[in-house]
Amino acid sequence: MDAMKIINTAAYNWLMEIPVTQWSRHAFDPRVKNDSLTNNMSESFNQWVGELRFKPVLTMIDTIRCRLMSRTHKRYQTGSGWTNEITPAIMGKLDSMKQKFRTYHTMFAGGDEYEVIDGNRRHVVRLGRWDCDCRAWYISGIPCKHAIACITFQRANIASYCHDYFSKTVYLQAYGGRIHPIPAENRWPEFAHSEYDPMMLPPLRRLPGRPKINRRR
Ligand SMILES: [Zn+2]
Repeated sequence: MDAMKIINTAAYNWLMEIPVTQWSRHAFDPRVKNDSLTNNMSESFNQWVGELRFKPVLTMIDTIRCRLMSRTHKRYQTGSGWTNEITPAIMGKLDSMKQKFRTYHTMFAGGDEYEVIDGNRRHVVRLGRWDCDCRAWYISGIPCKHAIACITFQRANIASYCHDYFSKTVYLQAYGGRIHPIPAENRWPEFAHSEYDPMMLPPLRRLPGRPKINRRR
């Protein structure tokens, strides 16, 4: 940030007005174990929903429900067939990181402590605490390349150093719930509505002008 301040003070000020937990990985909440920095997830959800966004709300909700119903089950089925204890996406990530640490110099200090030298940087890794001072492991729940160097040095299993969130077991738990089918509307049970029934639609108030469809950036 100091370097940025010298190059462009306005950029520095602009960033500092946004809470740092929203744009810098080191400040992310470590409990969520997600280091995703972009809004790609909401973008891809928008794309997945596509033209449905312009349909009446009941049609939209019900179609999303149907899609989620099949998708949840499909994922559960796919996950059931995995043979590794870690999900394939994370296995792929770990495999690509394994290529990177070959140039590192790893020194074992005893116990669970390591010092890893990567060019002119050095890192302290404590395998027993699942910690490297680059903080990537702590934030993401996946061993960083320094930790992978130490785990490999110790000939231990990398998968056993990944957070449970990335395990097949937790994946199956996440997709093991079922979204139940709903019968046709004419088979729905009747309910008596009072005037103040919270299940009734709220009064419709239209704002003047055409409804906005463009996203707000
Ligand atoms: Zn590290």
